Order: sequence, then structure tokens, then C-alpha cells
Amino acid sequence: MAHTMTKREGEAAPPSRGAIVALDFGKAWDYAAAPESPDHVSIDPKYGLFIGGRWVTPRSGRFFPTINPSTEEVLAEVADANAQDVDDAVRAAREAYDKYWSRMRGADRAKYIFRIARAIQEKARELAIVESMDGGKPIKESRDIDLPLAAAHFFYHAGWADKLDYAFHGRRIRSLGVAGQIIPWNFPLLMAAWKIAPALACGNTVVLKPAETTPLTALLLAKIIEEAELPPGVVNIVTGGGETGAALAIHPDVNKVAFTGSTSVGKRIQRAIAGTHKRLSLELGGKAANIVFADAPIDQAVDGIVNGIYFNQGHVCCAGSRLLVEESVHDVIVKKLRDRMATLRMGSPLDKNTDVGAINSKAQLARIRELVAAGEEEGCERYSAPCPVPEKGYWFPPTFFTGASMSSRIAREEIFGPVLTILTFRTPDEAVEKANNTSYGLSAGVWTDKGAKIFYMATKLKAGVIWGNTFNKFDPTSPFGGYKESGFGREGGRQGLAAYLGVE
Ligand code: NAP
Ligand code: MG
Repeated sequence: MAHTMTKREGEAAPPSRGAIVALDFGKAWDYAAAPESPDHVSIDPKYGLFIGGRWVTPRSGRFFPTINPSTEEVLAEVADANAQDVDDAVRAAREAYDKYWSRMRGADRAKYIFRIARAIQEKARELAIVESMDGGKPIKESRDIDLPLAAAHFFYHAGWADKLDYAFHGRRIRSLGVAGQIIPWNFPLLMAAWKIAPALACGNTVVLKPAETTPLTALLLAKIIEEAELPPGVVNIVTGGGETGAALAIHPDVNKVAFTGSTSVGKRIQRAIAGTHKRLSLELGGKAANIVFADAPIDQAVDGIVNGIYFNQGHVCCAGSRLLVEESVHDVIVKKLRDRMATLRMGSPLDKNTDVGAINSKAQLARIRELVAAGEEEGCERYSAPCPVPEKGYWFPPTFFTGASMSSRIAREEIFGPVLTILTFRTPDEAVEKANNTSYGLSAGVWTDKGAKIFYMATKLKAGVIWGNTFNKFDPTSPFGGYKESGFGREGGRQGLAAYLGVE
């Protein structure tokens, strides 16, 4: 699956393949391609909707293609559910709630959730390959991060299913009913796990709508759920676009809406269901500050910066997209960052050596390009890694900007791509002020030699997750969620259970 490397997005010359170049970081030798084979992966040519434990043709009669963003080839046709289909799914979920799931002992619900977790582990390789094909993320990320975490979320919540009384000691708890869940394309299977696992553990039934560009792993998860013999209708998967999501959110028989996606759609949903009985949790956008003090271990920090923004092509809501560096180390960090970026490999998501995969969609690539052009127009200085750009597919090289001000668009707006904006500060309080000067509040990172400084910063930063001397680390036991326009409600940990329970 070798790509022809010709077109270029960065300004520097292409690395010489195979040539030995002394002291030229990362180009001293090249790795041979090490593609993960998709041969044993079976993707059906066409998928219906998974409703009431059966695969059904959409009443809409419509299907849409899902493509591989690294090759632009169509992978499958997927059902486009309309409001009637959504209604069927919600009815199935209601029936399953009334008949089976709300009456089942927690210990029995746990067995089903464990089964799902085990099946995800068993099929991890296939799921990781499909995730990388459908969404463009490097196989080493889908294999080593998305899949283990997705299984871990099911394991973790299976453990809670019969212990909910202890989670909220002395209080009465109850399940909510039918949960309508809408997820984005950046961690398709993992976001499905974040949504479905706690909902089931807490005794709710589910209608889940995956993102339009990445529906395949949710459909494979539906097959796993079918094989795990969950009672019909406990989990329903309806594929489709924004209208399908909107129909699900406003359906009168949905008790709980859980949405992960953009702040603009989150606000729209909030407006649409205002004044109803529905419970809502929102996980929205971010513009995280990654703060590096002069006393930080600089090489580790540089690796953390790279992980913070170039991981998953920057398609991460909590990406460290604003780098705040103490002024005295600005130049050394910029130099080391350039050196490190020169070693990043962009290319086929299925190649095990790939660090940077494809941008998820043409529309997302256009948005990244638009914001990068805005940064250039505002006079900021751009550096893009000298990665050869494959001819087909959607690509954007790891990029950073220096010379930006706090009012620059690239310092304020979520780019959701591999683009970093570097700003400076002189004192901890200035760093706090700049970090908090955003409408978002999802995450932040602090790099310093001094533990006390991390704690000081953590008390001042208005962000739901704060990493100390690391970045983008997740665990099902650790609650995740935002402040301000990054949303409300938590996912993971004991706190995440509260989003799916009535606690009195
Ligand atoms: P998006 O456009 O808001 O889409 C998210 C989901 O909502 C998709 O399934 C989408 O369907 C659906 N949708 C679109 N319009 C809708 C409507 N009017 N009513 C109900 N559902 C609707 O977001 P995105 O661009 O796919 O994802 C990127 C955004 O998600 C970024 O802003 C990122 O920060 C955020 N995000 C946040 C978190 C978090 O945990 N806080 C995690 C991941 C991503 P289609 O796919 O068909 O459009
Ligand atoms: Mg796709």
C-alpha cells in the first residue's frame, strides 16, 4: 500500500530516502514500510441499522458512503436513518428498558458488559485496523490507545454495575431510562465505549449515533453486542448525519442526552431540549494550554508537546493546542521542537511506523487550511514539518506558529488539526491568566521540576483535566470533562456514573 510521495504542503525539501545524512535528525535512515494487513478484516459492502437486536433496512431507504480518508476509497455504504428510524430505535430501547434491563440485577448486567469487554479484546486487531481505515489515525494509536482504552471502559463499568449503591453512599439511586448518545469522529470506538459502558452499568438502555465519517467500528461493536446476546433493544446503533442526531436528541421518549462534539452543535442541542425533562451532558471543544516552565525537563517536555498536539493529527478535543513557554526557554524549545518534528513520519495509517495519519475528512482539512491561512495573514510565523504528502487522501503536516498574540484567531479558535500556537509568559500568574483567557476549559498541562508549582497551577487553572509533566493520558477511573464552553458533566470514574443515574 505504498503511497507516491510527490505533492508538498510544507516548505522544506523532501527527505532523501535511504541516504545517510550526518546529523540530520530522523533522516539518517528510513524505515521500510511495515503495513498492518487488512486482509483478514471483513467490512460488509452495506450496513443497515441495528435496532431491537436486528439489522434492519432504513425506512428512509437512503445509504451514504464512508470512505478511507488516506486513500479516498469507499469502504462501505451505511444506512442514513431518518426521524422514523430514530423513533423505531427509541421504541426498541424503551421496550428493552421496561422488559429486561431496568429489572435485571446489577450483577447480571455486569456479566453482559464483561462479555462485551472480552469480545473487544479478542477482536482488538480487527477493530484497530478498521478504525485506522475509516478515520485515518495511525495504527499504532488505534492499536495501543483506542482499543485497550475501549475495552478498559467496559471492564471498569462492568465492575460498577453491582456496586452503584456504594458509589453514592446513603443516597437512593435510580436509572434514568433511554439514553440518546451522539459521538464525534476523532475516537469513534472509544467514544462509543465512553457512552455505552456507563449507561448500561447504571441500568439504562441506549440509542447511539456515530459520526458520519466514522461509523464502521460502532457497527462492528453492534455485531459484538449481538454476539454477546444482550437482550434485544438494550443497545441500538443508528447511523446518519446531523439530522439523525438532532432527531435523537429531541425525541420525547429519550430521558438522557449525552453529546460529544463541537461547541456549536452542543449549544444547539441544549437550546432544542431546554425546558424538557431530559438530562444532558455535553463534552465539547477545547483550546488547551500546555505550560512549560524554564525549570522543566526540556526534552521530555518537547516530547509531551508533540504528543499533546500531533497525536491523532490534533483531532483531540483536549489537545495542547496553545503552547505557553517561559520566555527564557522559548528559543531552545522552538529549536528542539523543529528537530523532533523532522523525525515524524506522516503516511499510511496502516503502517506501524506512521506517527501522523490522515486528516479525517475533506471538510476538516479545509477548516484547518482556513485557520492556518488566517494565522499567516495575521503575520504569525509558520513552520511545517518537512513531511512528504501522499498524493491521494487528506493530509496536513505537523505545524506550529510563533509570533502570535492572544487575540490571533489561531490562539483563540479550536483548529482540531496538527497545528500548535506558541505563546510566551514570564511569571506563573501570567501563565495562568493567559491559559484561562479562553472560552473553553477542558484540559491543561504543566511542565516543571517543582511539584509545588504543579499544585499551585492546578488550583488556578480553569480546566477539567490538568496533566503534570505529561499530556493526553486517559484512564476509565479518572473523570473527564470540561468547564465553560467545553461542556458539563463528567465521563469516567465515580463522577461519570452520576451522569446516568438519578441520585436522591
Ligand atoms: P460535530 O459536528 O458537533 O459532530 C458531533 C456529532 O454530532 C456527530 O455525530 C454529528 O453528526 C452530530 N451532529 C451534527 N449536527 C447535529 C445536530 N444538529 N444535532 C445533533 N447531532 C448533530 O463535531 P465534530 O466536528 O464531528 O467533532 C469535532 C468536535 O468535537 C470538536 O469541537 C471537538 O473538540 C469535539 N470533541 C469533544 C470531545 C470531548 O470529550 N469534550 C471529544 C471529542 C471531540 P455528523 O458526523 O453526521 O455531522
Ligand atoms: Mg470514514
